[in-house]
Amino acid sequence: MSNADNESWSRVKERLRVEVGDDIYSSWFARMDLEAIDDGAVRLSVPTRFLKSWIQSHYAERVLACWQAENEKVTRVELIVRSAVLRSALAKPKPELETAAVGGRFPSNNGNGRPLHVGDGNGHEALGGSPLDARLTFESFVIGRSNTLAHAAAKQVAAAKRSDPVMFNPLYVHAGVGLGKTHLLQAITWAGNAVGERKLLYLTAEKFMYGFVSALRTQTALAFKEALRGIGVLVIDDLQFLQGKSTQAEFCHTLNALIDAGRQVVIASDRPPSELESLDDRVRSRLAGGLVVEMGPLGEELRFEILKARVMAARAHHPSFDVPLPVLGYIAKTVTHNGRDLEGALNRLLAHNKLTGHAVTLEMAEREVRDLIRPQEPKRVKIEDIQRVVARQYNVSRSDLLSSRRTANVVRPRQVAMYLAKTLTLRSLPEIGRRFGGRDHTTVLHAVRKIEGLVGNDMALAEEIEILKRQLQE
Ligand code: ADP
Ligand code: MG
Repeated sequence: MSNADNESWSRVKERLRVEVGDDIYSSWFARMDLEAIDDGAVRLSVPTRFLKSWIQSHYAERVLACWQAENEKVTRVELIVRSAVLRSALAKPKPELETAAVGGRFPSNNGNGRPLHVGDGNGHEALGGSPLDARLTFESFVIGRSNTLAHAAAKQVAAAKRSDPVMFNPLYVHAGVGLGKTHLLQAITWAGNAVGERKLLYLTAEKFMYGFVSALRTQTALAFKEALRGIGVLVIDDLQFLQGKSTQAEFCHTLNALIDAGRQVVIASDRPPSELESLDDRVRSRLAGGLVVEMGPLGEELRFEILKARVMAARAHHPSFDVPLPVLGYIAKTVTHNGRDLEGALNRLLAHNKLTGHAVTLEMAEREVRDLIRPQEPKRVKIEDIQRVVARQYNVSRSDLLSSRRTANVVRPRQVAMYLAKTLTLRSLPEIGRRFGGRDHTTVLHAVRKIEGLVGNDMALAEEIEILKRQLQE
């Protein structure tokens, strides 16, 4: 391949990263390589079959479009799996052992009709975790109002001894992007492994999907149980990325097996269990059955403390790096979005300071971080909040809204609440139906249309809805 091809490929990847965002990019595309370009056909490779089918079913058009934006002659993108070597090295299936060891909990197939466990192998090695960042420890985690509970629970999990009863299982932490989930989970893993009593395995959901799950598939049920036995605490990050029926089935077995065996499970996600729409009900309720803690946005004080701690840490390597407190105050006040932007802001000051030798001043900070100051994001509206606010407004109870009662004084508020759920959240119709006492999606659709139709003519109703929206979005 020519240099020009490689350069185009770099640009295509950049474009893709911008379009799908860093998280998705690193989950799915980071390991994609360019193999060849000829006659308008681009051949790309990925390391696993799983990634191949995932990208094919979810991102094929995106990838093609990104190529076409770079080079209009491209008409086709072909994906291949490059790890043939690894696959052929796997041992042959052992069906007798498989059925013998399957027992009650582990199903004999993964929902695709394919055997769940084939081959043999050393589970401990195969179940390797995701890499940990040495900086993400409890020592560097700053505690504030929004994360006190999550932090306390995390500490507890990390310090627990093998003989201690498991207090809450799973521990489920949820928060928006950049609010410290990964930091907290890795801190648990570092601290727990330092105690040395139990083995803690930290996995991103992505790693779980195509590392752990494929490792499971290459093992006998016996080897799998054996491997699980070696894990004291399973830590899974970014559960919202767990996708696909068979992966979920395997996640569910793993979860059940570990919890039933008294092993600790820790999970982080960007939303509460009830909003993990693609998971099935049993998994959701199992997830909700432990301790579910939300970490809220970082308050100004917490942002300030995080910045101070960061500067201290940076000074270990750059002793001359000095950021006056008013500058930290300014950043804490204005860069409100999340922990990543705080980190980004300080990195810029550090870079500027190192490269130009100029001291960090307020003027310089204002210039450097200008683009990190974002307008307030619209608030994330929750279905529960909608139900609560609507119930209060119409003087009915929330359980009335969820009930099957059909008297006029509950039907209208219920329709209004469903309408707001559809317009103010990203939830799908079936999901909204489920959250309104298990109604069908057609009922929700009917309610949405009904209210849409009414607000055109009924000024009073239109105004009521405006008021509700304002209350919810404040
Ligand atoms: P998430 O996984 O929730 O998206 P991260 O854990 O990656 O967020 O956090 C983003 C950045 O903010 C990291 O650099 C992290 O160290 C920092 N951060 C977030 N919360 C805290 C905290 N409470 N104390 C110290 N640093 C934090
Ligand atoms: Mg994270």
